[in-house]
Amino acid sequence: MKPTQSIPSDSTDLASAALRTLRHVFGYTAFRGAQQAIVEQVARGGDALVLMPTGGGKSLCYQIPALLRHGCGIVVSPLIALMQDQVQALKLAGVRAAYLNSTLELEHAAVIERELLEGELDLLYVAPERLMTPRFQQLLAQSDIALFAIDEAHCVSQWGHDFRPEYIQLSVLHERFPQIPRVALTATADGATRQEIVERLALHAAEVFVSSFDRPNIRYTVTEKDNPRRQLLRFIRSSHDGDAGIVYCLSRKKVEETAKWLREQGLNALPYHAGLDASVREQHQSKFIRGDGIIMVATVAFGMGIDKPDVRFVAHLDLPKSLEAYYQETGRAGRDGLPSNAWMAYGLRDLILHREMIEQSQAPDEIKRVERRKLEALLGYCEAPTCRRQVLLRYFGEESTPCGNCDMCLNPPQTWDASEAVQKALSAIYRSGQRYGAGHIIDILRGAETAKIIERGHQHLSTFGLGKAISEAQWSSLLRQCVAAGLLGVNEHGGLILQEDCRPVLRGEQPIQLRRVRETQAAAPSLRREIEFEDDAARALWAALRQCRRRLAEEQNVPAYIVFGDATLKQMLERRPMSLEAMHELPGVGDRKLELYGADFLEVLQRHAREYA
Ligand code: ADP
Ligand code: ZN
Repeated sequence: MKPTQSIPSDSTDLASAALRTLRHVFGYTAFRGAQQAIVEQVARGGDALVLMPTGGGKSLCYQIPALLRHGCGIVVSPLIALMQDQVQALKLAGVRAAYLNSTLELEHAAVIERELLEGELDLLYVAPERLMTPRFQQLLAQSDIALFAIDEAHCVSQWGHDFRPEYIQLSVLHERFPQIPRVALTATADGATRQEIVERLALHAAEVFVSSFDRPNIRYTVTEKDNPRRQLLRFIRSSHDGDAGIVYCLSRKKVEETAKWLREQGLNALPYHAGLDASVREQHQSKFIRGDGIIMVATVAFGMGIDKPDVRFVAHLDLPKSLEAYYQETGRAGRDGLPSNAWMAYGLRDLILHREMIEQSQAPDEIKRVERRKLEALLGYCEAPTCRRQVLLRYFGEESTPCGNCDMCLNPPQTWDASEAVQKALSAIYRSGQRYGAGHIIDILRGAETAKIIERGHQHLSTFGLGKAISEAQWSSLLRQCVAAGLLGVNEHGGLILQEDCRPVLRGEQPIQLRRVRETQAAAPSLRREIEFEDDAARALWAALRQCRRRLAEEQNVPAYIVFGDATLKQMLERRPMSLEAMHELPGVGDRKLELYGADFLEVLQRHAREYA
């Protein structure tokens, strides 16, 4: 389906042709951010390098130019699962799309190759190793090609974690087909990677489009760990009843236990980690993607190549590896632009564990130094008394103002003069020999007569019971903040030890302001629900719309979001279209989808209007 068969020469014509395609094929009313400029650049035949965060809308940047230009757009993508989903979604929108990768039968692949030769395809997704075969190169030379899109372009970077050797060879495309425009796309922000992409793909003449890496619809919250599972459950129950989400844990064991426990609490949770059978992993992943409202409890083995737009929350029960990893993991929430949560519970134990892992690893010193710095940046994020988003974006080189959509902005922390309390804690640590962990130190300060205290004679220390007035949670937070600030160190057994920096504090020369923990369980600011129902009738309509979507998805064997995304369903709930024309106005309802699904949803809306009239 090509709305126009040739590129309009005039730039206003090009702009309106692009907009027409956006409306009729994809059902959207306006381009986002740099999309329009990118589409025009590529449609006109120019090269482009696109840096946009996950969920920013990179796909349209090559899909629309491919529809506007003569011939087939070739999309190089390393992620096979993602290819299939994209092609499915495009087909449902009426685009002649296909993919070629190792999962296809020979005969089926031959059919697609013929379609390409005969000009019957608008978009063809290809795995990089396939693209570079002599056979495929020959096919390309004989076909009419609209453009090359190189998705996940950071895979050319040898220093990055997703390096793919086949990507290096993609520069050949430019040598063999110099007149065909190329667009390279990535969500990896840093300057070094960008430079490497330009060099390796010979994109020196490409126009570079850099979008802000902010994800304004994601709300960031970091909460102090006290009973993490219960905190997680409270968070899910209060903010994400029935939503799809990911819960990250560090170890396989914890993944299993947490998933099991959540199921016992009545939630629809599944485990995912590298220790599970490949078939089980695949089955769980597919349930998560296709199903509605499944919680995936996973190690970081899960997530790469997951393109599910309606993941409503990402929760971390353990500290991630670095801020880069954290941003990538939390970035899997809310690709559809609807309000979503990134929630993390963190405590002193996490910090100690990570320190230990670094110190005990066999890595060379310079690697350890880098890892220490990364851990510090992560702690800086967890402990900063300011806007979380500002800390995150600054780490990626972007300045911003307080966001109003993180726990710190919504519920600013109180600070207190902790100088005296810190002195007491340092003294208790020093006098007990700098070898005990936080729990025992807090017992000393709070005057707890535990067996361990009596056995060691610590009830005779001068600091014993001096900190009764301060709660356990407050002490625990205080110790953690001291470690994060470098006043305290941690030995290989988790024992707290004094650092050089604590001298002026001990001498009373340096006042210390610390964040107060939130004693009551306002630990997470009350989170806005994704959808506010005005009454029970609206709630019932929402359920009916989802039910209708689920039925259609099952009938056609596609993920629910491919029928219509949550954003579209939400608009149905709000605007209640009563005719196909009104339905066509909604974002996400293109010509083809209106034809396929319009009547079914209209029936649900009309029935509901009658019932609640
Ligand atoms: P990326 O590849 O950058 O992660 P996608 O291309 O998958 O992002 O787009 C993310 C989501 O945003 C998709 O659900 C897509 O349909 C939606 N989207 C993209 N562009 C627009 C637009 N102009 N208007 C409305 N929704 C859009
Ligand atoms: Zn903020």
